[in-house]
Amino acid sequence: MISQEVSIADIINKQRAYFNTGKTKDINFRLEQLKTLKQAVTQQKDAIINALKADLNKPEFESYATEIGVIQEISYAIKHIKTWAKPQKAPVSPQFFPASARIYPEPLGVVLIISPWNYPFSLIISPLVGAIAAGNCAILKPSELTPNTSRLLNEMIKQYFDPAYITVVEGGVQTSQQLLAEKFDHIFFTGGTAVGKIVMEAAAKNLTPVTLELGGKSPCIVGSDINIEHTARRITWGKFLNCGQTCIAPDYLLVNKSIKENFLNELQKCLQEFYGDNPARSSDYGRIVSKKHFERLAHFLKEGKVRIGGETNPSELYIAPTVLEDVSLTDSVMEEEIFGPILPVIEYTDITEAIDLINSKSKPLALYLFSNNKNLQQQVLQQTSSGGVCINDTVIQVAVSSLPFGGVGDSGIGKYHGKSSFDTFSHYKSVLHNPFWLDLKWRYAPYKDKLSTLKRLIG
Ligand code: NAD
Repeated sequence: MISQEVSIADIINKQRAYFNTGKTKDINFRLEQLKTLKQAVTQQKDAIINALKADLNKPEFESYATEIGVIQEISYAIKHIKTWAKPQKAPVSPQFFPASARIYPEPLGVVLIISPWNYPFSLIISPLVGAIAAGNCAILKPSELTPNTSRLLNEMIKQYFDPAYITVVEGGVQTSQQLLAEKFDHIFFTGGTAVGKIVMEAAAKNLTPVTLELGGKSPCIVGSDINIEHTARRITWGKFLNCGQTCIAPDYLLVNKSIKENFLNELQKCLQEFYGDNPARSSDYGRIVSKKHFERLAHFLKEGKVRIGGETNPSELYIAPTVLEDVSLTDSVMEEEIFGPILPVIEYTDITEAIDLINSKSKPLALYLFSNNKNLQQQVLQQTSSGGVCINDTVIQVAVSSLPFGGVGDSGIGKYHGKSSFDTFSHYKSVLHNPFWLDLKWRYAPYKDKLSTLKRLIG
């Protein structure tokens, strides 16, 4: 825990000095560091699984799939970094002949990465991959709500990296605000929309650019033209994975009235298949991160009518996978981001009702549509705006490195993953080069007799 501003300033100064040596600009250095990061994650797998179990009761399978799986993002960067880092040629119009143009990606400097508790390991390592690939030094601030993972990250980064290059600063809101008061070259924040505003305000004081990976209510439309069994399974998985504490989990369902009953029966069957008769005893079902979040979620259970689940156990921070019906749009469960294992279901008869409802709310991070109807797919794509869309599945879009990941409007600013991570942590420097061997005089004074040539050139 950092308790004095002076020590934060000290860390930043050391990182600035390290950055100024120019070491991180070398592509081979970056490649080596990415390989070290991959090795660190690989060697610490057991410790990562244990920390996540202690913090969130995360099943080992989920820890592998959604946290240790960040190795794939590292491998992707290792594979592509040399191409990404190459200066790109840019076309130059004939009037500037014989000049040539190139765009050089260059690192920003010292960057700050602040992360949340829901995927407390991968959501700090994944942006770090971009920061390293682009040649920056980085300070990482994990969430205080997952203390075991935070401690492990601190120890792991210390063991594998020079603190003047990458370091972890542990702590809560106060530490985060101490960090935010400093000048960075970029701040990458993942968390809630309300805190995102605080981060952006603090960054503005130093004119620090930000990436804000925020949350919100991600809708999931279930049309009538579907494979009902696969739809139920894919929604159940995406919603109740990590006990619903996933930024891109389907927040609420908009289900076509004609299939609603069949679909909800299938969903119930699926929950039984996944977690058994009593999910509280399933080793594959997680827990709520804290008492505060448990109480927030328990309040939602008082709204609408419980169709499936609804059981809670405060001493274990357990909330059963729950489906709510008959909620009103003014209920808090439909006004706030749920971020837990509670799924309100709203029925619609015409797709325009579902689209209008989505458009009446802030732009979501993810939008899900289950339908084989191509026209309906196009209509939803064209008439709604969201960070991303996944058709006929949930959540897996986040794992596709070639797809930029980020929000729009209230769900965020900027994007990352794969090349987008490299872009986020790079400045693209435009360089025009005019050789000496030719010096056409059409632009120089005296301008007499040259205007007609200029007019011809400009058109
Ligand atoms: P949060 O915003 O409360 O906290 C995120 C980080 O900010 C933590 O490290 C915390 O210490 C710090 N922080 C909290 N309050 C602060 C303040 N007042 N000033 C400065 N720093 C502060 O978010 P959370 O509860 O950890 O995570 C849940 C939220 O994150 C949800 O809204 C979820 O949708 C969102 N999220 C988004 C993504 C994404 O990729 N877009 C991923 C995961 C979570």
